[in-house]
Amino acid sequence: MGTKYDFLIVGTGLFGAVSAYLLRQKGYTVMLIDKRDHIGGNVYTEKVHGINVHKYGAHIFHTSNKKVWDFVNSFVEFNRYTNSPVANYKGKLYNLPFNMNTFYQMWGVKTPEEAKAKIEEQRAEASDRLKIKSEKLGVPCEPQNLEEQALLLVGKDIYEALIKGYTQKQWGRKCTDLPAFIIKRLPVRFTYDNNYFNDKYQGIPVGGYTTLIEKMLAGCEVRLGIDYFDQKEELDACAKRIIYTGEIDRYFNYEYGHLQYRTVSFETEILEGVANYQGNAVINYTDAETPYTRIIEHKHFEMFGEELTESPDTVISREYSKEWQPGDEPYYPVNDDKNSALYAQYKALADAQTKVIFGGRLAEYKYYDMHRVIERAMEIVEMETIRTK
Ligand code: FAD
Ligand code: UDP
Repeated sequence: MGTKYDFLIVGTGLFGAVSAYLLRQKGYTVMLIDKRDHIGGNVYTEKVHGINVHKYGAHIFHTSNKKVWDFVNSFVEFNRYTNSPVANYKGKLYNLPFNMNTFYQMWGVKTPEEAKAKIEEQRAEASDRLKIKSEKLGVPCEPQNLEEQALLLVGKDIYEALIKGYTQKQWGRKCTDLPAFIIKRLPVRFTYDNNYFNDKYQGIPVGGYTTLIEKMLAGCEVRLGIDYFDQKEELDACAKRIIYTGEIDRYFNYEYGHLQYRTVSFETEILEGVANYQGNAVINYTDAETPYTRIIEHKHFEMFGEELTESPDTVISREYSKEWQPGDEPYYPVNDDKNSALYAQYKALADAQTKVIFGGRLAEYKYYDMHRVIERAMEIVEMETIRTK
């Protein structure tokens, strides 16, 4: 092939697509490959019965970064969708994230003052434990795991009903073996506000995420159904630099062993003649016994009011979470201590590479949301173009 391109980008997910767009804007030549038979990585959506189905799980775009929001809106319009999932715990419904509606449903409290007093009482045990530990060690201690963090944030009733079972299903690990930061993603509010995110901007791209990625990649050379490692030598030779967005441990042939990931599988059903199955895009099943974590009803991401019933059918997906095995798609990095230490070893190898840049959720082994992936791609492209000037 010869060194035909400035950059070869492995992966057409959000990281690959944003990098490709920005590099081309700066005048670089780019080729992308993906082992899947479609672009978009995990944000890929496909039309089923006129509904954009989030094939790899519900994706809601949210950010407080105006630059990122303006960037995505320069390709497609975003609708007014606001994520407000509902939790079903043993048949009883609770609003999420944890807010005055949840506190009312859980305890019957109606004012922020009553709710705060109830949470104070609920978290007393966990807070005392932390105090004793801090006194013993002579330094202020932080919660060491997800359970300790959750008990301090919302107390034991909410932890038991809405967090413990769901988290253990989602991660396949006990809450005491998971990092605290995972639960800190969720807001705790003393207002009647069911918006899952605190960010300034939120929505779903009109036409689905595939349209967003297609627009970013317009005019780019993209080859699908190619696994980089099947033709690595030849592909490496065709570009001056490589941007790699796959799993970092795979890049180094698992030299130090496998990093762990969680994968998700979906049982998707088309319900003909059912216009509105569950009344919400996302319902979480938070008990430990229901085998799936949540049911997504895709049309609610983009159809509101009358539009909803004008479209006669619906599509739902039950989401099951399990440990990644070779051959599965990796979805979530497991950022516990053991994996973080292993990742640090791979990161040292990655930092020593001169031709390859590692970016995105899998190559950086980080629990990035979409807006963070875009920010990282912007940062990395900026750094690289300064470096290669
Ligand atoms: P990916 O989308 O994984 O793209 C990597 C691409 O590289 C893939 O297409 C893959 O096929 C390709 N690839 C890998 N290895 C090779 C190889 N050897 N050869 C060729 N191609 C290769 N974020 C939000 O902001 N909001 C949400 O609501 C949200 N919900 C989520 C729900 C689920 C179930 C999951 C799993 C993630 C969710 N995210 C959400 C996160 C979001 O999916 C990621 O931030 C984003 O998709 C990461 O983009 P990426 O390009 O880094 O990775
Ligand atoms: N979580 C929970 N109960 C819920 C929803 C979330 O305990 O009903 C916890 C769970 O540990 C999850 C974390 O909060 O991993 C973050 O949730 P989020 O919805 O942000 O996860 P994602 O969208 O990445 O699956």
